[in-house]
Amino acid sequence: MKKRTFLKTSGIVIAGSTFRSMIPRFQSDVGKNWAGNLIYSARKLHQPKSVEEVQEIVSKATNIRTLGTRHSFSAIADCTSEMISSRGLDHIYEIDRQRRRVTVGAGIRYGELSQYLQRYDFALHNLASLPHISVAGAVATATHGSGDQNGNLASIVKGLEFVKADGSIAKLYPGNEDFPGAVVGLGALGVVTRMVLEIQPTFDVRQDILLDLPIESAKENFHDIFASGYSVSFFTDWSGPSINQVWIKRRSEGAADLEELFGARPATRKMHPIASVSAENCTEQMGQNGPWHERLPHFKLDFTPSNGDELQSEFFVPRENAPEALMALQAMGDKLTPLLYISEVRSIAGDDFWMSTAYGGDRIAFHFTWKPNLEGVLAILPELEATLSEFGVRPHWGKIFNMKADKIASAYPKIDDFKSLVVKYDPEGKFRNDFLTQKVFGG
Ligand SMILES: Cc1cc2nc3c(=O)[nH]c(=O)nc-3n(C[C@H](O)[C@H](O)[C@H](O)COP(=O)(O)OP(=O)(O)OC[C@H]3O[C@@H](n4cnc5c(N)ncnc54)[C@H](O)[C@@H]3O)c2cc1C
Repeated sequence: MKKRTFLKTSGIVIAGSTFRSMIPRFQSDVGKNWAGNLIYSARKLHQPKSVEEVQEIVSKATNIRTLGTRHSFSAIADCTSEMISSRGLDHIYEIDRQRRRVTVGAGIRYGELSQYLQRYDFALHNLASLPHISVAGAVATATHGSGDQNGNLASIVKGLEFVKADGSIAKLYPGNEDFPGAVVGLGALGVVTRMVLEIQPTFDVRQDILLDLPIESAKENFHDIFASGYSVSFFTDWSGPSINQVWIKRRSEGAADLEELFGARPATRKMHPIASVSAENCTEQMGQNGPWHERLPHFKLDFTPSNGDELQSEFFVPRENAPEALMALQAMGDKLTPLLYISEVRSIAGDDFWMSTAYGGDRIAFHFTWKPNLEGVLAILPELEATLSEFGVRPHWGKIFNMKADKIASAYPKIDDFKSLVVKYDPEGKFRNDFLTQKVFGG
C-alpha cells in the first residue's frame, strides 16, 4: 500500500490524487481547486452578484481572500477564514471602439469574453492555454500565453477597480504611481471588481504542429524558432534527443504551409501535447485558419483542458538564458521524465508590473505538467529550482513551487515597494494569507 502523505500549512491540505481517497476527512465549505490537489480551508464562501455586495462583505470581514475559477495549484487563493468568489461579477460593461478598450467584471472567463469580443470584431492580444480562467484571477498571478511580442494577460490591463479593506473603492489607471504595483496584485490589495482591457481588431490564426525538433537544433536556433510565429510553444518530456512537438500559431494573413522547421517535420494528424491522448479537446490545427480565440488557447472551452488529473509548476528565466536553461533541463531528463505528463516552453514579452514574472524584461517559461504524485514533485522541486537558479529563476505564482521568500525577494527588485503598497491598501492584513506571509512577506 502506498504511503499516505499530506502537506499541510495551517489548514491547507495539498494532496496528490494518489492520496485523494483521504481528502474528505478535511471539512471545508468551499471545496477544492480545479485540480483537486488543494481543499480550501476557509469556513465560508461568499458569492456576491454586485460591487455593492462585495463592499458590504469586505467591510464586515476580518480576514478574506478572493477566489476566481479555482485554477491555481498553489495555495495563493486560500485562507482559513472567509473567501469571496468573483464569479458573480461577470458583466461586460462596455466596448469603447475609439480607444479600443473593454470594461469587464472581474469574474468573467476569457472564453466568454473572447466570444463577445469576436461578435464585435475585436480581439485580445493573447490567451493562456485554456479559456476557462477568470480575468482577475489570471491577471493577479501574471498568467500568460506565448509569443515573443506578447506580454502576459496582465499586460493589457488599462484600468483597475477594487474594493479595499475598509469596503471603499479604489480606481487605478496607467500614470497612477500605484498602478504598476497593483495590477499583478496576488489578491493582496483587495477584491478586484472591474477591469479595463486593451483590445484590438479581430484577426485569424492558423495553428501548425511540428514533430521531433532535434534538441541541439532547439538550442542553436532557439530565438529564431520562437520568433517564427505569433505564439510558439515547445512540448517535451525530456526523454529523447528531440523536443516532441513545436506548436506554432501564426496570424493567417501571409502565413504559408511549413514544410520543415530547423529539423522538425509537420504532424500529419491533429495532436494533443501528450501524443498518446486524444486531440479532441484541443483547438483546431493542421494549418486551418480560424478566429484568434479558437486557436490561441490550446484547449477548447467546452472540454476539460490539459490532462485533468495533474499538478503543475512553471519557472521563468530571462530570454537570453533560455537556450542554456533548456539544455540543463534536458540533462535532468532521467529524473524529470518519470514524474511528467509533459513540459511546455513558452515566450513572454517583458512588462513593468512589479510582481509580474516578466517584470523588467522578456522571459522564457519552462512549464511542467506533473503526474499527480505530490511526493515525487515535492522531492524534485528543490533540485529543479537549484538548476534553474543560475539562470535567474522566478516561479509561477499559481503553480506549485518550493522557493522561499528570500529567493523570491532576490528575483523581484520591487518587492519592498509591493509590500509597502499592500500595507497602504490593507493596513490590518485583511487580505493576507499563509501563502503571502510565507512567500512574499517572509514571515
Ligand atoms: C489546466 C490549467 C492550465 C493552465 N494554463 C496556464 C497557462 O497557459 N498560463 C499560465 O500562466 N497559467 C496557466 N494556468 C494557471 C492559471 O492560469 C492561474 O493559476 C490563474 O491564476 C487561475 O485563475 P483563476 O481565476 O482560477 O484564479 P484562482 O486560482 O481562483 O485565484 C488565483 C489568485 O487570483 C486572486 N484573485 C482571483 N480573483 C480575484 C479578484 N477578483 N480580485 C483580487 N484577486 C483575485 C486570488 O486571490 C488568488 O490569489 C493553468 C491552470 C490550469 C488548471
